Amino acid sequence: MQKLSKIAVLTSGGDAPGMNPCIRAVVRTALYNGLEVVGVRQGYQGLIDNNMYDMNNRSVSNILNLGGTILKTARCLPFRTDEGMELAYKNLKARGIDGLVVIGGDGTFTGALRFSRKYPDIAVIGVPGTIDNDLYGSTYTLGFDTATNTVIEAIDKIRDTADAHDRLFFIEVMGRDSGAIALRAGISCGAEAIMLPEKETAIEELIVSLKAGQYNKKSSSIVIVAEGDKNGGVYDIAKAVEKEVKNYDIKVTILGHLQRGGSPSSFDRILGSRLGFAAVNAMIAGKTQQMVGLQANNIVLTTLEEALTQHEFKLEDDLMQMMEILSI
Ligand code: ATP
Repeated sequence: MQKLSKIAVLTSGGDAPGMNPCIRAVVRTALYNGLEVVGVRQGYQGLIDNNMYDMNNRSVSNILNLGGTILKTARCLPFRTDEGMELAYKNLKARGIDGLVVIGGDGTFTGALRFSRKYPDIAVIGVPGTIDNDLYGSTYTLGFDTATNTVIEAIDKIRDTADAHDRLFFIEVMGRDSGAIALRAGISCGAEAIMLPEKETAIEELIVSLKAGQYNKKSSSIVIVAEGDKNGGVYDIAKAVEKEVKNYDIKVTILGHLQRGGSPSSFDRILGSRLGFAAVNAMIAGKTQQMVGLQANNIVLTTLEEALTQHEFKLEDDLMQMMEILSI
């Protein structure tokens, strides 16, 4: 492989707090090592549209505290086609770019791996950036910690009003097919029940436990429903419970996109910095088609192939056990 001289960085898929600290680390690590850096706007769309700009150390000043991504992100259909990929490749080559850091989730990595297999002369390193925490090869993904803290803050507030009125709240949280945010937020806020895609809870079971809570003089109850739960959605669950559980005023709250925003937590700022730093260093060391991740507090490389094919992310056994025991 030829010596690296110029790299590009992009963010793709859903935005996640921590992407900006990561962009900053990529830019400054690359410049420190004598590489030129190009920022790509709007993910893969920017590669196709040639929407890129040269970055310097000042391009990433004062962004550590910002949620979202200064490079913008997009879901880009044309990049799924051979023609779209070819355009992206030509635009990168015309600028003399020989390395690409992609920050995103599994869709982003699928695109990156396909692209890299077609055009192996451009090195590709992935950084796991998604609030869903659902990627194999990294215990934590960028944005998960901040999103979980945002959810906790919101649920704490809901608990106040739930308690004042003897209410039962059903709260839907994000995570796609992953219950990671739901599980951590649920345990952190003392939710009476947590409905997860990873562990099906029958509605009958939920009703029994909510009735037991009332019998045990609980004045309010909170049920967290992960958006990937298989019981038909938070409104259907609330309706089914309403028929059986009396003496509670039942409310539904969908937290929605507020979970994506906000200033990144300390954890996500450090994680973003570590992963961005590691991504550039891996590329300088000649690596490609790899993802940088965190395992046992160490930076570890996993092939994109493995990160994608093994993408079963397991929730912690002890958290799964305690979620029932600690909420009695
Ligand atoms: P999140 O987990 O936050 O949703 P993601 O990276 O999984 O992030 P996606 O929308 O699934 O988000 O993927 C981001 C982009 O990656 C897509 O818009 C598309 O441009 C590209 N992509 C996804 N799958 C493929 C594919 N099979 N081939 C080429 N590109 C793809």
